[in-house]
Amino acid sequence: MTNLFLIFLGNGNFSRAQLDLSTIFRQFFPFNHKSIIFYSFGLELALNLFYFTPMKVSVDSMDKCKFCGSSNQKVHVAEERMFGQGGKFTYLECLSCGSLQLATIPSDLSSYYSNGYYSLVDLTYSSFFRRILKRVRMKSFYKFESKFFEPSFGYWLKKIKPKFSDRIADIGCGNGQLLYEFFASGFQDLHGFDPFIEEENRISPSLTIWKKRIEESDLKFDLIMMHHSFEHMPDPFDILKACFEKLKPGGRLLIRTPVSDAQIWKDEGVFWVQLDAPRHLMIPSTKGMVAIAKKAGFILDEIEFDSSEFQFWGTELYKKGLALDPKLIGKNFAKEEIDAFKEKALQYNQEGKGDQVCFYFRKQD
Ligand SMILES: [Zn+2]
Repeated sequence: MTNLFLIFLGNGNFSRAQLDLSTIFRQFFPFNHKSIIFYSFGLELALNLFYFTPMKVSVDSMDKCKFCGSSNQKVHVAEERMFGQGGKFTYLECLSCGSLQLATIPSDLSSYYSNGYYSLVDLTYSSFFRRILKRVRMKSFYKFESKFFEPSFGYWLKKIKPKFSDRIADIGCGNGQLLYEFFASGFQDLHGFDPFIEEENRISPSLTIWKKRIEESDLKFDLIMMHHSFEHMPDPFDILKACFEKLKPGGRLLIRTPVSDAQIWKDEGVFWVQLDAPRHLMIPSTKGMVAIAKKAGFILDEIEFDSSEFQFWGTELYKKGLALDPKLIGKNFAKEEIDAFKEKALQYNQEGKGDQVCFYFRKQD
């Protein structure tokens, strides 16, 4: 539900900085009303005290937790740090399940997805010879289940082992590189969904990248995957329900996403690299995610923590006021430090406090 704030502004313009004053109020006053009147006493107002112009602004910041429904929330104010664009973005942390959600989704998010954004880069194709090697490798991986043959793009394949003929969807696939690796490895019925790509791309009869949402497809799938796209979506229940409807009975849903169980979130707060304001619209806790997936009809098979050293070096760069540039790793961290970060990530994963997980869900037969 969207609630209304009546904001009185001196110059009739609305700015995020002024809205964020509401977050300060919210920490002291647990508003329960559908509508409230909020007086913003920003700098502009101080200069225009006698010229208040009432302005209605629609915001989601009074919403309940999208994962568990609790309205007991704590406010955090984050900045865009990946490209150093700044700004102020309010996240609500659910005090019941621990999940995070962006209070107000910017009306135009495209300015926060530059051309260098990882999912919008060009697809890298494999030569005919490399594709043969990739097929042999995948067959060997299935046969021997050896770490030696494990594909670098999917450690999680060992848990689900889809058949080569299975119909597989990747939601939020960007350029479709992951599905292309599946294709090169011998999978035959692959469908990527991303409404934000330039155009539909029929790479082969076995692989189509659709410029649409999975909800708009008539196909039913054996496996639906979301690799770090779930957190870019506005509503967890809507997307989970859509996945449930598009899966065949017994079909599986794999969701890889950051989680707020992360120790680094508890330690470093809004400097946490995977908070990624304002692109990440929601970050579940494992508790919140399991609750909402169950509500959508899913059975949980397993949760696997798969965080990496990225959580540490990325967060350190943000704490130093630097943008997220892999070229800065060498300049800012010694090899020993990176090795220690890797070690710590493994330890965090074992203890269930890494900053991202793989959820393995299933639709009942
Ligand atoms: Zn919650």
